[in-house]
Order: sequence, then structure tokens, then C-alpha cells
Amino acid sequence: MFHGTLASLLRKANTDGCVMYPVGRRASIKDMAESLGVPHTEIHDLRCNGRDADLSHLPGPGEVLELFPASGPVDVTRTTRLRPGFSRGLRFVVDENVAGLAPLLRGLGLDAAYNRAWSDAFLARLAREQERVVLSRDRALLKRSCIAHGRLIRSEHPDEQLREVLNFYSLPDGAVPFSRCLRCNQPLHSVDKKRVEPLLLPRTRLYYQHFKQCPQCGRIYWPGSHQQSMRARYAALGIGCPGESA
Ligand SMILES: [Zn+2]
Repeated sequence: MFHGTLASLLRKANTDGCVMYPVGRRASIKDMAESLGVPHTEIHDLRCNGRDADLSHLPGPGEVLELFPASGPVDVTRTTRLRPGFSRGLRFVVDENVAGLAPLLRGLGLDAAYNRAWSDAFLARLAREQERVVLSRDRALLKRSCIAHGRLIRSEHPDEQLREVLNFYSLPDGAVPFSRCLRCNQPLHSVDKKRVEPLLLPRTRLYYQHFKQCPQCGRIYWPGSHQQSMRARYAALGIGCPGESA
């Protein structure tokens, strides 16, 4: 029985989430769920004949399985029965099929690794080694066992995808909007205006006093029109960002 939103992920349309599964070969609950279209990362609790079970359990004939989605915002730092907690907090790795999420997450100060050149295997390994949550629309990627935390993104539109992510995960208190490079994810450093003045356009030089710079790519940031348009984009999604003086 696939409860709640898990039922909508089943390959064969099945609104009540009830599936009879032939136990013809020894398959774990993880294998069974994934063969029906539900990646293991979407399953946050499960029971077998009314008792707690884990994803590696091999069900026998007549056993009744109940699989549940997350029941509230997921705190990835908390160890649960099905997956380990991440000791370094909420950090993401973004798959190419949801690439638009990377700058939107970075703009909120969230760590979102992304590189279009990364293969699925590399991305999954990075997720394991650096304790990152995988965000993807690719079910096959999320089936990889080494991915502890991941989310199958439903929407095709980056703003709606961001809303999905922010609704699904408990956000850290310490994230500071516009504190990361939108291009390469590095935390920005404050930089003296005199040092970057030759690189600024006349109006920027005139109206803005505080600047930050990416230590990796050298890009300069200030609270100008681009930042304002991102703030408006966040506000339209109901996400407030603390202001920053010019
Ligand atoms: Zn950069």
C-alpha cells in the first residue's frame, strides 16, 4: 500500500495506492517500490504486517507492506529509521534537469552544488561523500543506493521547483540571502569599494557603497537591480529576504 503522495508516483495509474505484487523472486522492499516507479528517497517510513521494517527487508508471500511519504518538513540532520542524519546540515546537489534551481537556492544563501558536466555516477558519489541532498526529476538517479537523501522534483518550472524544495525541507536558521556566488556557489567575501571601483559602471559607483566578491570567479555583487528582481521573485513565492542597505 503506497500512502499519500507516493500513490501518484506509481507507474500504472493507481489512485488508491494499493498494489498486489507477485513475490516470484527475492526482492527487497526498495527493489519492489522502485520497479513500480517509486524511488527509495521518496519513502520516509514503512511497515510490514503492521511492524516497523526497513528498505532491505525481503517480503514473503502474504505480507502486507505500507509505505509512507514524509509527514512534514524533513530535517536532514535527524537520523531516522530509514536514513542517516547529515552532520553538516542541509546542502544540495542539483541535477542538470532542474539546473534552474541552483542559482535560486544560492540566492537564498543555501549551498547548492551544480555542474552540467557531472555524470549521474559522479553526482551520486558527491552526494554520499559530501552529505548532500540530491534534487532531480530523474527517478533512475534517485534509485541509486548511495543517495541517502533526495527529492524527486515534480514541477518543470524553476520557481515552482523552489517552492517544492522549501516546503519539503526544514531550512537552516543561518542561511543569509545573497551571501553566495550565484554562478559557482562559493561564499562571498566583503570587499572594499576602492578595490573594485575600476570595474564598476558609473551609476553603480555612484549609488552603491557595499560590495561583495566571489573568491573563485571574481564576480562582484551589490544590492542593485538584479538582486531586487530576485527579491521580487522570492516574494512572489511567499519567501521573505531580509533587506540590505546600499
Ligand atoms: Zn563565483
